This record gives sequence, structure tokens and C-alpha cells, in this order.
Amino acid sequence: MTDDTAKRDYKDTVFLPKTPFPMKAGLPQKEPGIEARWREIDLYRKLREARAGREKFILHDGPPYANGDMHIGHALNHILKDTVCRTQNLMGKDAPYVPGWDCHGLPIEWKVEEQYRKKKKNKDEVPAKEFRAECRAYAQKWVDTQREQLKRLGIMGDWDNPYLTMDFQAEATIVAELCKFAESGNLYRGSKPIMWSPVEKTALAEAEVEYEDLTDSPQIDVAFEITESPIEELVGAHAVIWTTTPWTIPVNQALAYGPDVEYEIVEACPYFSNAYLTPEQSAAIEKRLVEHLPWMSGSRRLLVAKDLGEAVASRLTKAAAAVDVSDLGLEKVGIVLDYPGTGPNLYVKGFELAGTKARHPMHHLGGFYAAPRPFLEGDFVTTDSGTGLVHMAPDHGEDDFDLCKANGLNPVFAVMDDGRYRDDWLWLGADDKDEDGKERRRSVINKPFNSPEGPICSDLREAGALLSASADYAHSYPHSWRSKAKVIYRCTPQWFVPMDKELEPVPGAKPSALHDMSLEDIEAAAKDGAALGQAQDERDTLRTRAMSEIDRVEFIPPKGENRLGSMVEGRPDWVLSRQRAWGVPITLFVRPDGTYLQDPEVNARVVAAIAEAGVDAWEEARKAEFLGDAHNPDEFEMVTDILDVWFDSGCTHSFVLESGRWPDLQWPANLYLEGSDQHRGWFQSSLLQSCSTRGRAPYDQVLTHGFTMDAKGKKMSKSLGNTVSPLKIMEQTGADIIRLWALSVDFTEDHRIGDEILKGVGDQYRRLRNTFRYLLGALDGFVGDMGDGGEIPELELYVLSLLSELDAKLKKAATEYDFNTYTRLLVDFCNEDLSAFFFDIRKDTLYCDGDDSTARNAYRTVLDLLFHALVRYAAPVLVFTSEEVWQTRYPQDGEREGSVHLLEWPSVPAVPADRAKWDALRALRERVTEAIEPLRREKVIRSSNEAVVTVPASAVPEGVTDEQLAELFITGTVTRSSEGGEVTVTKSSDNKCGRCWRLLPDVAADGDLCGRCAEVVGE
Ligand SMILES: [Zn+2]
Repeated sequence: MTDDTAKRDYKDTVFLPKTPFPMKAGLPQKEPGIEARWREIDLYRKLREARAGREKFILHDGPPYANGDMHIGHALNHILKDTVCRTQNLMGKDAPYVPGWDCHGLPIEWKVEEQYRKKKKNKDEVPAKEFRAECRAYAQKWVDTQREQLKRLGIMGDWDNPYLTMDFQAEATIVAELCKFAESGNLYRGSKPIMWSPVEKTALAEAEVEYEDLTDSPQIDVAFEITESPIEELVGAHAVIWTTTPWTIPVNQALAYGPDVEYEIVEACPYFSNAYLTPEQSAAIEKRLVEHLPWMSGSRRLLVAKDLGEAVASRLTKAAAAVDVSDLGLEKVGIVLDYPGTGPNLYVKGFELAGTKARHPMHHLGGFYAAPRPFLEGDFVTTDSGTGLVHMAPDHGEDDFDLCKANGLNPVFAVMDDGRYRDDWLWLGADDKDEDGKERRRSVINKPFNSPEGPICSDLREAGALLSASADYAHSYPHSWRSKAKVIYRCTPQWFVPMDKELEPVPGAKPSALHDMSLEDIEAAAKDGAALGQAQDERDTLRTRAMSEIDRVEFIPPKGENRLGSMVEGRPDWVLSRQRAWGVPITLFVRPDGTYLQDPEVNARVVAAIAEAGVDAWEEARKAEFLGDAHNPDEFEMVTDILDVWFDSGCTHSFVLESGRWPDLQWPANLYLEGSDQHRGWFQSSLLQSCSTRGRAPYDQVLTHGFTMDAKGKKMSKSLGNTVSPLKIMEQTGADIIRLWALSVDFTEDHRIGDEILKGVGDQYRRLRNTFRYLLGALDGFVGDMGDGGEIPELELYVLSLLSELDAKLKKAATEYDFNTYTRLLVDFCNEDLSAFFFDIRKDTLYCDGDDSTARNAYRTVLDLLFHALVRYAAPVLVFTSEEVWQTRYPQDGEREGSVHLLEWPSVPAVPADRAKWDALRALRERVTEAIEPLRREKVIRSSNEAVVTVPASAVPEGVTDEQLAELFITGTVTRSSEGGEVTVTKSSDNKCGRCWRLLPDVAADGDLCGRCAEVVGE
């Protein structure tokens, strides 16, 4: 043995990779500098110039509310949008991105009011203009904050010129769009029960309502004495209704029955398990019952649905249980519903109740309460719960409203916007005071007000009409997601867009299906019958237009089509009005009869005024100016309601895509991309707005993403303390890490984020980063390709074929917005095909071959191709790191104001390779690696170079030499055996080359050189 230390050190003859690109990313320090440089060179504008004249791809940004810091939902949403635009730009299209914000509406008003509340200031005392100015300033503050946060996240867009719904131009366009509805008569004033928040004093859109499970809601059974009926036995009996909203009883106007429901007349009887009572006991019990349950002093004959008799009896028993009879030696009193002794009509079919009338329990108050309450046939009445008789308050329920309206009973508007009854309301109005002279009325969502001890139940009890009352009902009840307070249905005069009114055709819009058909087609279809019938039935309404557009538009994932479709199919008319201050006014002039002025000239003056001065221009002082000489101001009133904020955002396609302020954009958009909650929000309002005014949807594709849950799959909330802040992650690990996370999850479903998940993402990031670091090092000093001189080895051809396959898959994934597949393919290729395979095998060639070696040159040529492809593929995902990689290799490009993000999709050569052969070789390589592993573990050998391998001859594809196998396995000598299928490994007895550390037969002694190395170093 020779002494190693005496041997020459060949380290400086080995070509070690050299690069200033560090392994440690340091993204939080580096990213802001990269972002600043993009700003400096105006990268977004440069990209627009570079793509000018190309096919456009328009993703229209849905505006988030400008009312808080960026949260993880914003981050995911914007990363997806950014990646769509970046991949489209990369694929050569012109894909501009104009970000926007929703600035009007309750979310912002609520925040400003919150500040008032803290200062004990009353909002109603602040002049409207002043209040709106504060809302405007508040929104602007958050626009500016979020804009900086989104830039920091690496979102590329027209940040110097975003759209805001509160821009005067936007406000004017929204008004102009509203005027289109007005001028075509596609707007009406009506009253209808709508979701109303007494706390916020406004109507709410469905998207602003959330359902909460309650277990302590009130439930009461109320008796309405029947005064008139074709069925004699019913007169004097009590019709029983059940409700969970006691506060609606003061506005009851009728009772509804199911025509096919079977009803029965029963008698409520006290019941005991030890049933033999003395006459004294009976008398005592009777006295107490009437005392506790005053209704029992009246008729005990009740009308209920047969199927619900037992349920009613059990509620009555619960009420009777409060009657204490223990001193009489008895257990609790029960109530059974028994058949009365006389009368043939014990059973009544629902339809027989027509013509029956009852009186309101509070009829003694007179006035509104004196009128008889008719029994009305309602097909919505079921025997699922309650009593089978439903009390009707047309002010506060949709079914109630429709049925009463059809029978000439109108809403009475008794409940005011703050949830209290009107001052002049007989029962529980301003004059209804308790013994201390204090008002008994409260807001109808007030819990004690509705409780069994509250004024409603007390009065009903006293009137002998309360059969049962408890606070134990479990159901799901709507709440305002903002104030968390209960909401109610309430009738108020509102402005509506009708869903089912026949529309005027939109000039220039695509014709309906029937118009598309030629006369021959129509005749042919008539022979078939069905098709024409369908076409003739198809009325052109907002609903049918929207439904046919939903059919045309592509939804990603496809389930979005059903979701939006079922919502539009069943939705009521669109309530446009809100009784608030911060928003776009409903600029209508109304006559006393509720009709409104349809004069385009007046509308044009209003639009012009708002374009100049914003929404404040809509003021009483300018009424005559707007109306002009043609109309008498005294004949009109100006509407003071503002527009539903969803109408604002529903118009963004108009003032952003069509206005010309952003010449890069065009109408319609290719894609709308938002969270799946926007099926009831922006996707729908934009669809309805555009179908009404333009005859089609403003988009061709709709992409939805799910929501981000915490690591355990729980919904994030501030109160649970499980929110994950993207701002914090950027600060701690970098924006590229959040981006990689967002593009690795299946965003079409709800997905998770947490420390462990982010750690895994960090590992993936390091692998990608190391791949680039390796490429940069290996390509150090590489200038050109190998020229025509050399032949490309088969391994290189094989890797190129893998690259071309990857290229096609990535393009498909990018086109389909399948970003988690995109990211996974990229990471897997870098890990499995490059790091663990190609780079590993070619380490020796790269480090130890001569500078002019054909193999080394061929390898580096392929590395160069890989570099150019991979840095482009990675650019939309790791926007900062890819720029760092690019500028490391091409620092002079930085001086020329270049950027990786200006590049286009790489052109990758289509290279044929014998895939079957290489699949077999890779499989064999894996077996060899597995066989070596135990020896390495037992420290018999230190590296695979020290292994001598025998492989079964049958496993080696034809035409592969033993030397090629050794190269592929990174081992010493490889031999093959014709017997047995095993791979065997032993320790090599060859000497180790002092330069390349391979153990080869031609190394004379340990530390001497092998033939190749000797040639390279010239010894
Ligand atoms: Zn060597």
C-alpha cells in the first residue's frame, strides 16, 4: 500500500461547478429588491409592449373589498390569477391584468360606523356627504395597503392604474348601466319580503347572510278561535298554529291549510298515570289548570292535522307539566287529545276548510285585529312539523306574501327598519306601555321580547290563546355575516329587476335559438315535434338568457355549472335597492303612483354630473337642473336608495373592459376566476347585468377555487385563532413559498395550510432551487453548443425525450389551469429524472472529463437546453427565484433591463428515444442501487464506485455494453451472468483513481490515475 498523503492532490484538475447562486435562498431579504427592480424597469409595461399585437387573453379581476389586510384567501386568489396571466403570457398571448377593488357598500360603511360607535358618535347626525367622504378615504387607505401587499407577493399587474368602483368614471358607468334597465322598463318598484338586518338597518343580499345553528329558539302553539265555517262543529273550536317567530303574530292576517291534509277535531283532556281521582282532586286540578293555562277556560276543542296530533299533545303536556299537583299526591299532569263525544265530523279534509274564518287572539284591540282571519289554501303546507295549519304574515314570509297577495291581503309594513313595530301600531307600538310607563316594544329580533315570558306570549296567554310556549327549538337561522345579528324577512318598498319579464332584444346581440334556425330547419323540427315546441316555449327573459349562457360558458371545475344554474333557476327577482349612504344612487325620478321617468336626455345629464363630481352629485338641489325644461320637478321625487353593491361589481365588465381607459383590455373576458362563494355573488351579478344589457355573459370561462382551512381542516377564524397570515409567511420564508404552496394544492376543493404543510413546500422549494444551482454551476463558462462535431450520447437523447414529454404535459396543464399538476410535474422531473438520475450519472463526465471531451460537451449542451426550458417553466410559479436564477446566469441582461418574465415558452426539440430500452435500464439501475444499499449500510463499501456488480444477462437490453452499465450504475466493473435472475454485488479489488475516485482495473495503485484521467491531466 502506498501512503495517500504522499500522492499528488488532483483537486485542481477537476472541473468543480462554480456559481455565485447560493444554496440558502434568503427570500425575505432578496424578494423586495427584485420587486423594486421590476417596478423600476416597469416590467408590466415592457411585457405589454413585447406581446403587443398577439392574441389576447383577458382575465377580468373580481374586485375584493378594500377593508382590511390581505388574508390567505386573497393571497391564493391572486396567486392563481397571476399564474393564469403569467402562463398565458409565457405561451405567447397578450394577457394583461388590471386589478380592481370594490369600494362601496356596507362592509366599508360598517367599519366607518364602528369608528363612530367607539367615539360614541351617532351616524345619523353626520351629514351624508361627510360620511361618504370618510368611507371614500377609508376605502382608499385599504386599496393602497393591499396594493403594496399584493405587489410584495409578486403579483404582476397594472398597479399604477387599477380600477376602483368609487372612481367617478366607474360611478358614472354604473349609473349609465342602471339607466339602461330603466329605459327598457326592466326595473320595477315593488314590495316583497326580503332579507333584512334590523341591526344594520338594511336589506341584505343572500351572499351577506350566513346560517347559524340555534338550540334555544322559541316555539309556541297559538289558538285562533273559529268564528265562521261551513262545518258547523268547527265554530267555537280553536284552530292551532305553531310558530318559531312569536313576533309575527301581531301582524297575522290569515291561516293556511293544505288541501290534501287530513285534519281532526279533538278535545284536550288532562291525563294522569294513576287515573282514579276523587271529586276533590278533580276540582282542585281543574282550578289549577285554568289558572296556569288560561286557554283551558275556553273551548278545549282543537283543530289540528291528524298526523301531527301526537306532536301537539306532547307540547301541550310539556306546558301542563308546570302545574304542580304533588301536594295532591299526584304526578305530573299530561294532556291527551281525545275525540269529543259527539258530532259526525271528527275528520276534515283540508279542502273542506274553504270559507272558514277565525278571529285574531287580540281581536279585542279592534282596528287591524278586528277583521276576521280567513282560511286560505296553501300548497306549501305540509305535515312535517307544526300543526298542519300555518299562520300567515305577508310582511314576513315569501309564501305568506304570495298567498295573501293572491287573496287580496296586503302587507301592513308594521315593522320598522330597526326591527320595532310602528309607533301607531295597536299592539306593541309606542303607546303600549307597562305599569311603570315604560314602552313594552323591542326589536323583533330581541330574545326576551320573543321568550315565553315576553310581552307577546304574556298577552296571548292572558287572551286565552297560548297553548304552549318554550325556548328549546333547534334549527338553522339566518344571521348577518357582518354583525352576526339575526336577520328577518321584511316587506319594504324596493327596486327590483324582474327575472321573468319578456325582454326587448338587445341590438346586435346573438339571436335566440329559434332565430338561428332556417325555415327548413323549423319545418324539419316541426315534424320531429319536440324541438320546435321547446323553441316556441322559450320566452326571452333574463332568466332564460342567463340559463342559456350558463349552458354555453365553460366551468372549471364543471360542478360550477350546476351550482350557478340551480341558483339562477330558482332565484327571485333581483332586489337592487339598499337604504344606505355609501354607494351609487338609484338615479330615478318617481311619480306618486310608483312609475318612473324614462327619459334618456335626463339620464344623460345625471350620468355626466356623476362623472364630474361622483355620487354626491345626486342631490335634491340639482333636481330641476337634471329634469330640464321638459319635466315639472313638482311631479317627481328623487329616489334616495342606493344600489346593491353587487350591481356595482356586476358592472365592472363595462367600465373596465369596455371603457377604453385600459386599451390593453377587451370585452368580453376569457375568464373570471374567484372563490366558489361567488356563484351567488359576482359571477351571478355580472351574468345577470350583462345578459340584460348585452344579451350574453361577459365571460367565456368561469374558474372557481375552494377555501383554505387550517392544518386540521377547520375553517379559519379570528376567534379560533387559527388564521395563517400570508404577510407573516412572506416575512419569515418568502413569497415564493406561499406561491409554491398555492400552486401545489388542489385549489378546486377546500385545502389546507399549516406549519407541517409549509415545511413540505419548503423542501420542494429547496429541490427546485438546488436543481437551478446545479445547472448554473455546471454551465459556468459554457458558451455555445457542441457544434456539428460530436454525436449526442443515448442518455442525453433519452433525457431530451423526457423533456419534450414534460413540455407537452406542462403546456396542457397550463392551458387547463391545472396548476397543481403543473407544479408536481416540474418538481418530479427535477428530482427524479434530473437530480437522482441524469445529474448523478453524469457527475463523473462533468467533473473529470477533459474540457474538450465530446461527452462533456454534449452533456453541457443538454444542460443548457434544460436550463432554458426549466427557468421558463418555473417563472410563473417561483417568480422571484426564477428571476434570481436568470440574472445570475445573464447579469448583462439585467443591465439591459431584461427579465425572465419577458421570455416566451421554450422551444424544445422533439427527440426520439428508445423508451422501452430506457425503461428497462432504469428498472435495472434501481435493482442495482437496492442491492448495493446493504453493503453500504454495513460499511463494507463507502460508495457505489467500490461495488462490482453482476446482473442477469436477460435484464440487459440489446446493444448495451458493460462499460455503459457501469457508467449508468456509477459502479466499478459490471459483468452479466446467464444463470439466475439475481443482481449480486461484491467489493471491488481494483485500485482507486486518485482523481475521479473510480475503482478501475487500469489504475496501477491506489491514488494513481486511470487511463482517462491520465490523459486529461496530461501525465
Ligand atoms: Zn480517473
